[in-house]
Amino acid sequence: MLTKKIKQFFIPSVNYLDNRSFRRVLMTNFVLIAILVSTTFFFFLNLHMDEYLTAAIDFFGFFISIYGLYQLQVHHDLQRTSLITTASFILFFLLFVYFKGNDHFGLIWSIFVPIIAFSINGKQNGLYFSVVFYTLAFFMAYINIGIWDNGAWGNHDFLRFFFASNILVYMLFMHERALEKSDFKLIEVRAKEKEYIEKLHQLSITDPLTTLYNRRYFNEVMPKVISIAKRNKLYLTFFILDVDFFKHYNDYYGHIAGDKALIAISDAIKNHVQRHDDFVFRFGGEEFGGVILSEDPDRSQRHAESILKLIEGLKIEHKRSTVSEVLTVSIGIATVTPAKIDTIEALYLLADQELYNAKENGRNQCCTTRVL
Ligand code: GH3
Ligand code: MG
Ligand code: MG
Repeated sequence: MLTKKIKQFFIPSVNYLDNRSFRRVLMTNFVLIAILVSTTFFFFLNLHMDEYLTAAIDFFGFFISIYGLYQLQVHHDLQRTSLITTASFILFFLLFVYFKGNDHFGLIWSIFVPIIAFSINGKQNGLYFSVVFYTLAFFMAYINIGIWDNGAWGNHDFLRFFFASNILVYMLFMHERALEKSDFKLIEVRAKEKEYIEKLHQLSITDPLTTLYNRRYFNEVMPKVISIAKRNKLYLTFFILDVDFFKHYNDYYGHIAGDKALIAISDAIKNHVQRHDDFVFRFGGEEFGGVILSEDPDRSQRHAESILKLIEGLKIEHKRSTVSEVLTVSIGIATVTPAKIDTIEALYLLADQELYNAKENGRNQCCTTRVL
């Protein structure tokens, strides 16, 4: 528990969508912790050395880092934290340069200003912050030529500081630009991947001929349908439908006509059973299935039974059928209280048995069973 809290302190788990924001969170957090540690250390060191002014600046840095960590870790406000952190950092270094000049080569510490400005604010705000800082730092460095380092700070030193700092800012800008570009590319690729995965999933659960859901989706969705039914205290009607004498149909009219008939039948069922929580499947060949949820078991059963007349009403000629002049179907229906059914297989068997009965009894009819 404690180690988790400590880890969370050093690597805050913020659910940002993109890499760039997450990197900024980590970097801001790291900078704040570094300021916290170093200002604490230098505060006591400077007190010890009777450098009260520098100790006061350290205390200011310490206070800012605590405030920043609070904003970042408790309020998850990255924008505000990175602005406050950078602004304070710049103020801290300007005070440092103002009071210390280049004593003991102290100006070297200023390289951290643009590094931090870019890494926690991105390329644009990083550039603004760096320009503000260096404008003031160059100004102080320029007017102190012949004064800092007991007069040793000269023109050459100023120019070296000026050019090196400019190159540093340019390189950081280009680096940040490259990172941003590659992050955008990554976001683009991720979005494409997501789209492909969604498409693949859709393909894997769809029957290509009829565009109905397939048996795989039946297995995937049925547990959800059953739990919806249980939660809302609904009855569930499950039906299996098989086209009568379809082999004869194929033999007589050809496979392409057979396919067309299957599409017409599937369209009819789909339009008939189309409420949000209802589903229609093609289980394979000329066998279809569907599930209807309802508060009224009689209604959902009647709704399933009416598919029989619906298909007959399509009037698809079938000269080789011995039960009708048009294409007909047989339907097995099970209407149940979901809590009374142990497994999906058990539900399937119930309807399948009824389908068998319908075929045995002469086809072109429904047989039903109820477990209520
Ligand atoms: P029953 O009334 O007992 O169901 O007889 P049936 O002829 O319909 O049943 P059987 O299972 O013997 O034949 C099913 C036929 O369905 C066999 C096959 O020619 C046809 N079939 C299966 N899948 C397709 C398909 O995708 N397209 C076409 N055109 N025909 C298919
Ligand atoms: Mg059949
Ligand atoms: Mg069959």
